[in-house]
Amino acid sequence: MSLKRLWRFRPEASDPHIEVRERASEYLDGDASASLAQRIRIHLDECQDCRGFVGTLRATIAALRNLPRISPQPSTKDGIDQVAEPGDRRS
Ligand SMILES: [Zn+2]
Repeated sequence: MSLKRLWRFRPEASDPHIEVRERASEYLDGDASASLAQRIRIHLDECQDCRGFVGTLRATIAALRNLPRISPQPSTKDGIDQVAEPGDRRS
């Protein structure tokens, strides 16, 4: 088997679908390099599957950002601390 053939068996190096899916969050966060972002945009133009994937990821990220930040009520925290108290080994 030639090296060239071996290279083709590395999907992450040659498969644009995989690259798009692996780097999608980077792309959506705006952290992708200009050339990566361009490759992704070009691929999304021609690939409905990856467009769907990135669309879902974008919606998920947006939904997570919209979740209210909550912290436990003090009474809840006390309850957890009691249950989690070291040395409390009721059986
Ligand atoms: Zn694709």
